[in-house]
Amino acid sequence: MPAKVENFIKQAILIGGKWVEADSGETIDVINPATGETIGTIPNAGREETRRAIETAQNSFETFRKTSALERAQLLRKMHDVIIENQESLAEILSMEQGKSLVEARGEVGMSAAYVLWYAEEARRTYGDVVPSPWADRKILVTKEPLGVVAAITPWNFPSSMLARKIAPAIAAGCSVVVKPATQTPYSGIAWGVIAEMAGIPSGVVNVLTGSASQIGGEMTKNPLVRKITFTGSTEVGKLLIKQAAGTVKKISMELGGNAPFIIFDDADIERAVEGAIAAKYRNSGQTCVCTNRFLAQSRIYNRFVDRLAEESEKLIVGNGQEQGTQQGPLIDENAILSVESMIEDATKKGGRIVTGGKRHKLGGTFFEPTVIANAKSNMRFTREEIFGPIAPVYRFKSEEEAIEMANNTEFGLASYFYTQDLGRAFRVMQELKYGLVGVNEGIITTVEAPFGGLKESGLGKEGGHQGIEDYLDTKYVCIGGLGM
Ligand code: NAP
Repeated sequence: MPAKVENFIKQAILIGGKWVEADSGETIDVINPATGETIGTIPNAGREETRRAIETAQNSFETFRKTSALERAQLLRKMHDVIIENQESLAEILSMEQGKSLVEARGEVGMSAAYVLWYAEEARRTYGDVVPSPWADRKILVTKEPLGVVAAITPWNFPSSMLARKIAPAIAAGCSVVVKPATQTPYSGIAWGVIAEMAGIPSGVVNVLTGSASQIGGEMTKNPLVRKITFTGSTEVGKLLIKQAAGTVKKISMELGGNAPFIIFDDADIERAVEGAIAAKYRNSGQTCVCTNRFLAQSRIYNRFVDRLAEESEKLIVGNGQEQGTQQGPLIDENAILSVESMIEDATKKGGRIVTGGKRHKLGGTFFEPTVIANAKSNMRFTREEIFGPIAPVYRFKSEEEAIEMANNTEFGLASYFYTQDLGRAFRVMQELKYGLVGVNEGIITTVEAPFGGLKESGLGKEGGHQGIEDYLDTKYVCIGGLGM
């Protein structure tokens, strides 16, 4: 029987199997961005609660690390089943606190379940090595062991699946976790604590905190018991956490910002490119790290692509994510709207032409019109800055070399996309793009089976794929001598 929505919306933090309030008793309101209404409150925890959560996670780790891979795989399978059984309630919570449409929310929760199932399978495949030895009387073994307490911090744009990518491999490896979801979307994070309980994960293996980011993050990075920090969020905060974690030399994984190019060559299937463009731009109202930031269209098809993109953008149904048929929900808050507006103002001052959209949606609040801007130029802000909203700037290029140069001209290196029907070009361009993810004739490419992660200032490490569990394991070299052989 699926549990009710209320069962997942705990207004408490989870430390060592106990749901508690903040030491100070202080709370923070959680707002539904579509209606402005308060959904509930969460504890405003800080350094002290974090220290206790880390200690309890360390105690639990001492037992949990000794479980067999098969036991952990079975626990994760149970966790997967709990998520699937409660997909509808979890999607409702996600849509309510984040704003995305129910269709997208269901998809995200499904993706979370898929990560859990994937790592249930990977738990049993963390093989070591027996290496041919240079000495006749010695053997060389390489073993993999869970590294200890993992601290995880996640953003508001994928409040469920960003935690799935961290909690699932950590449990699969035999680690314990202390997680801090984003303050604007905490209930999908808190739900992981409930899911862990329902699946029978031993108490103290999954701990969930909400509250002061700087205090919680400060303790996580400073405390020597934490052996790994895994963060998804902005490059700015990621850099700060890397610096803070240096003091105790922790392993770090960083999934940071992007500036994704989407290249349409003259020889592309334009209709397929437009379909991919709509998905790669407007998913979650443009608020994803892999959303297209810059469309680069070749001269011959430039006008046709701009016109078709604008036509399809106009068809998107904007509304409350929880209403049937909505394709694009509100932006997360008023600051997000102000940021989008200032980028549009900057672009139009510098010669950008608004083909469609360009202003707040008539629904008011934080709803914004899907916007296409033609004549995008390199001096416009979105050439360098992550938009994180529903603006689609379209730049013009003449040659393949110029497109590659423009695409790579950024300090980011997360997702990239290009459309061509020329096989030779497909191989040349995919090789030249300095990005961790490349979609060729596809606009949505994330899947649990593949390693997700950025190059350059977009991050360190991979999530998903068989690579995603490596960061939760220590590699140990053992030399056994005196074998008398
Ligand atoms: P953010 O401001 O960096 O926040 C992310 C998380 O960090 C939140 O939980 C936030 O807590 C916390 N945080 C903020 N300041 C902190 C500090 N001083 N110490 C420790 N933690 C701190 O990012 P966001 O605005 O939520 O998310 C958008 C960004 O995430 C974009 O840049 C996007 O590209 C990136 N992102 C990347 C990926 C990827 O896989 N590469 C995926 C999704 C999003 P509070 O909520 O309490 O402030």
